[in-house]
Amino acid sequence: MGYGLMEPTKIQFNRPYMTGKELFYIAEAKFGNKLAGDGPFTHRCHQWLEQTTGCARSLLTHSCTAALEMSALLLNIQPGDEIIMPSYTFVSTANAFVLRSGVPVFVDIRPDTLNLDETQIEAAITERTKAIVPVHYAGVACDMDTIMAIAKRHNLHVVEDAAQGIMASYKGKPLGSIGDMGTLSFHETKNVISGEGGALLVNNKTYAERAEIIREKGTNRSQFFRGEVDKYTWQDVGSSFLPGELIAAFLWAQLEDAQHITNDRLALWQHYHNGLATLEAEGLLRRPVIPADCQHNAHMYYVLLADTISRDTVLQAFKAAGIHAVFHYVPLHSAPAGQRFCKTHGSLPHTNQAAERLVRLPLWIGMTDADQAHVMATLTAVCQANATATV
Ligand SMILES: *Cc1c(COP(=O)(O)O)cnc(C)c1O
Repeated sequence: MGYGLMEPTKIQFNRPYMTGKELFYIAEAKFGNKLAGDGPFTHRCHQWLEQTTGCARSLLTHSCTAALEMSALLLNIQPGDEIIMPSYTFVSTANAFVLRSGVPVFVDIRPDTLNLDETQIEAAITERTKAIVPVHYAGVACDMDTIMAIAKRHNLHVVEDAAQGIMASYKGKPLGSIGDMGTLSFHETKNVISGEGGALLVNNKTYAERAEIIREKGTNRSQFFRGEVDKYTWQDVGSSFLPGELIAAFLWAQLEDAQHITNDRLALWQHYHNGLATLEAEGLLRRPVIPADCQHNAHMYYVLLADTISRDTVLQAFKAAGIHAVFHYVPLHSAPAGQRFCKTHGSLPHTNQAAERLVRLPLWIGMTDADQAHVMATLTAVCQANATATV
């Protein structure tokens, strides 16, 4: 008799996927005696990112947060400059600009994709507005044609927060490759990972050289390594934004497998999507919406519960069934630092709605059909029981 017999099955929310080659490449980096940044593995990752996304220059960073901070430096954000973004996002989207004393201005999200509502951007523009930061939530693209047209009309910069967007695209263009620059995350919770990690994708060539300098402590060391100058010196503001080779070696194993990772995740995503169609038809929840222009990457599977169903009850039912499901985000406009540093345009009803109604389901490579069936059966039972109770 196993003593764990009565224990509920444990389905974790996330499990980092390993391709199997990570340690092999880390060993190669170790025996190559090149451990600082910008060695052979960083170079391979840069080439891959440039070939895959078509960006003019890619630069690995410690995190997507670091890449966003670089973007604020590159745009010369000055105290009081306004940056339009959603409140329904991770803190780093705003914090990177607040660090330069910029003022994030929150605009509501669309009810379908939960992305920045492009129809509300223009009303939020003032003479202090410097940039728009669309966040591609769940790897589903924002309406980039409209956003780029607005930016052009008002002479604004666009930084895509594509933290969740690797291998996803908008009208065939990879996310992060459309604005002046884009930022990717390789955090353990994302699709392609290196523990902590990220990249800045520079699309507007005029920023490429300065981006290298800012990333290398404000020096032109990158040019020196390429033999373009005979010594390197302090040129500009900057910091140390580059990861070492061990991280790049790990990341290389993942990038090589990025298509396979994406395909496997898409299959899991579709399995949930098919299985939850009935609950949507019954009006108990809404499933994610993928516009025709968007190829997504199955970064997450979420549901938006109907108003008649208590999210706490659903989360408790998952917990009792041994399933770890989560919600997010606490909207930035409602958080203490958001209230201190940011402005809000309008009342953000869809932001508040998503924050209150959204539940993210476990999704990781290695989940079995039985795991997913257990998640869906638990959700179905709790939704149907709740809905009857309210009639
Ligand atoms: C994960 C995430 C970030 C931060 O990424 P890090 O690599 O952890 O710094 C920023 N923005 C969004 C939308 C994210 O999902």
